Amino acid sequence: MNKDLLRKLPKMDELLEEKSVLNALDNNMRVIVMESLRETIEFYRKSILKDDIEDFSKEDIMSYFNKILEKKRKPNLKKVVNGAGIVIHTNLGRSILCDEALENVIDVAKNYNNLEYDLIEGKRGSRYSHIEEIIKKITGAEAAVVVNNNAAAVMLVLNTLCEDKEAIVSRGQLVEIGGSFRIPEVMKFSRAKLMEVGTTNRTHLYDYEDNINENTGVLLKVHTSNFKIMGFTEEVPIEELVELGIKYDKPIIEDIGSGVLLDLSKYGFIHEPTVQESIKKGIDVVTFSGDKMLGGPQAGIIVGKKKYIDRIKKNQLTRALRIDKMTLAALEGTLTCYLDEKEALKRVPTLRMMLLDPEELKRRAQKLKRKLQGAPKHFSFNIEKDFSMVGGGSMPTEKIESYALKVKSDKVPASVIEEKLRSNTIPIIARVYNGEIIIDVRALLEEDLDIIAKAFKSMGEV
Ligand SMILES: *Cc1c(COP(=O)(O)O)cnc(C)c1O
Repeated sequence: MNKDLLRKLPKMDELLEEKSVLNALDNNMRVIVMESLRETIEFYRKSILKDDIEDFSKEDIMSYFNKILEKKRKPNLKKVVNGAGIVIHTNLGRSILCDEALENVIDVAKNYNNLEYDLIEGKRGSRYSHIEEIIKKITGAEAAVVVNNNAAAVMLVLNTLCEDKEAIVSRGQLVEIGGSFRIPEVMKFSRAKLMEVGTTNRTHLYDYEDNINENTGVLLKVHTSNFKIMGFTEEVPIEELVELGIKYDKPIIEDIGSGVLLDLSKYGFIHEPTVQESIKKGIDVVTFSGDKMLGGPQAGIIVGKKKYIDRIKKNQLTRALRIDKMTLAALEGTLTCYLDEKEALKRVPTLRMMLLDPEELKRRAQKLKRKLQGAPKHFSFNIEKDFSMVGGGSMPTEKIESYALKVKSDKVPASVIEEKLRSNTIPIIARVYNGEIIIDVRALLEEDLDIIAKAFKSMGEV
């Protein structure tokens, strides 16, 4: 450690007299200038203590300060490159939106709009009217309403149809999704009483029937979207539950989780129950997410029989959980793609990425490798088969054949490369496995190839 260098570090007071700092104070909140100065001094102090630098000038300090300040003025929430190969990555914002959704958002957000104005009657209208028709067309349901997310949808449905009453649920379906959505907790907030029936692996029709009494509000079915129980298992088929509901005059509710609106088994995936199937089989109310396999914005969509949806719309909670205009615009834009199945597969990024052909992914990986020519010599780049996941708690056992770029360096440990990619101006999210960096190309966008190439090239020789 160089003590002279430590002594050379400027004090806060000195820096505050620098011209560029005075300038910065004119154009920025004082608190972010001070923070940037402190972080600058701290960075240099640490670098000196670690013997990372041999010398520095005032200009170096000012340039680092300006870089930090500039960063603080930019939004924290920003684009990242998804090299994880997980299409619906909950940590990376789940689904990315199609152009139709984006154009609709810009149009609605930049202008006044008819959010709650009925253009035919010339008086106050309902914000839900805009998408109710298209949701009904696509799902075959009698009515629909949309709220903030699926967690809110489940809570709202239970609160409306089962407050202070019992909701009968199979023990095998008391799921936790992503740590923050747990059926028993959601139920507590909705003021429905949980009535667990059956066992973890097997629940029979009589388990439901034996527990129906005058306190029963609803029968709830939860799609175990993010896990699979194998072996000696049994779930009651929807048709039988529906029959039981009719016999005792109790609504059957289904939380289907990922809102699949297409039968993806036609394209080689395992069969994932679709919203249309549940409606057709007679489920009274179905709830699902807008940003999972549907490929739209965060939203909770509730579809079903009109008499129940009408009650849900009148619940005061709906006001608190309501969807905003930008989400509505994005959701409507996304749903228009579904009016033609082939168009949906082409235009909705989540579906398009899920269905990408391995040969096409191989070509993309090769293209990425070509762009990496000229990167520092200590890196080696290889293309290998890989498996991507759908993500977002959808199709947990499904591994889709993909291709990945695998990166190794004989000088830099993989964990350090991973950290550098993550702190890139446009962060690149990659996996580390067996001492290698793995960048699955499935969820990359066209422009991401250049971003990755540039990041490796700027890592320099060591
Ligand atoms: C994802 C999921 C939820 C939560 O949906 P959000 O839209 O994230 O609120 C609830 N239930 C099931 C079965 C799910 O898969």
